[in-house]
Amino acid sequence: MGDGLLNALQTIIDGGQLILGRELERFEERIAARHATGEITPERTGTAWAVGVSNGTDALALALEALGVGPGDEVVTVPNTFVATVAAIVRRGAVPVFVDVDEHQVLDPARLRVALTRRTKAIVPVHLNGRPADMTAIMAIADAAGVPVVEDAAQAIDASWAGRPVGTYGVLGCYSLHPLKNLGALGDGGVVVGHQPSHRDALRLLRNHGLRDRDTCERWGHNARLDALQAALLNVKLDRLTEWTARRRSIADTYLAELAGLSLQLPVPRAAERAVWSGFVVQTDDRDALRSVLAAAGVETLVYYPVPVHLQPAAARLGYSRGDFPVAERQARRMLSLPVHPHLSNRDVAQVVDAIRGYFHDRAHREEPEG
Ligand SMILES: *Cc1c(COP(=O)(O)O)cnc(C)c1O
Repeated sequence: MGDGLLNALQTIIDGGQLILGRELERFEERIAARHATGEITPERTGTAWAVGVSNGTDALALALEALGVGPGDEVVTVPNTFVATVAAIVRRGAVPVFVDVDEHQVLDPARLRVALTRRTKAIVPVHLNGRPADMTAIMAIADAAGVPVVEDAAQAIDASWAGRPVGTYGVLGCYSLHPLKNLGALGDGGVVVGHQPSHRDALRLLRNHGLRDRDTCERWGHNARLDALQAALLNVKLDRLTEWTARRRSIADTYLAELAGLSLQLPVPRAAERAVWSGFVVQTDDRDALRSVLAAAGVETLVYYPVPVHLQPAAARLGYSRGDFPVAERQARRMLSLPVHPHLSNRDVAQVVDAIRGYFHDRAHREEPEG
């Protein structure tokens, strides 16, 4: 990996093409190929395209801009996401409208329809932890209402639902290439996938100052390109993504098998989901106690997004309060992310399993009556 990255760096230094160019195009073609569905309808060409952008937040904001989302519009999303999902909506001048999640921590389709109004301009489901939302149900509701879907697939590259890649259900799919995501650059990066040529054209303009050519500014745009250097590095890392994802899936399978039967709530994968496990989240009422015992045993766990977005200080003016999204709020108190990084060894994984089993064993012991 190190050699490959150094070679890519050398190629960029020697070639001098630092902005846009061949490495970026190659990266975009390869991401597009992973999203080809072959499905041809009036809205779909059957082939996907990809447009590299500066980061996942810009991917979302530019996607919404390409769809014409602006001031006064409403955009429906979930409260248990990274703040950037919501910041991208607010950046467009639009109003985020939250819908609670289901037991899988993703948008609950049963609560979606009532959240839609005449002003709803987009729905942004989030494939949290690399586990897809129920895109069959979400698309049925969105299509019936005529509202476009933009998938926040930042954590879910190569995940699929009902045999089809995430990012291809909605009219646009947005990825982050932040170093902590499943496919990470050596810095910031993002990419948008879609299938309508007009959206591709709009995104290419928006990421590059609205410039049609050197001297023609067709619309006001942004400086939001994916660097050629990052694209070159990503082209090296992309060679390994399938292998890394397989390793994540195998670690998740080990946890699901080895942690079954404890009084610990495990994720329950649905038949239609092919998760890529950017996070492996368990739930328990004594989360903090478990977490400190694991830390003492040398197992580092994390709580991603302990404060839901609707309860953040920045969201105060939206007028939500505690209790508005009981499912997301309860999960926020109970959830814990176990290590699931592809570079973990089998011994590392066994150590996590042993530490968790030890915790529940000791707890059962403590709770047993004396004598
Ligand atoms: C990481 C992430 C983003 C933002 O991506 P950046 O590249 O950090 O800007 C947006 N949404 C979700 C769900 C994310 O995990």
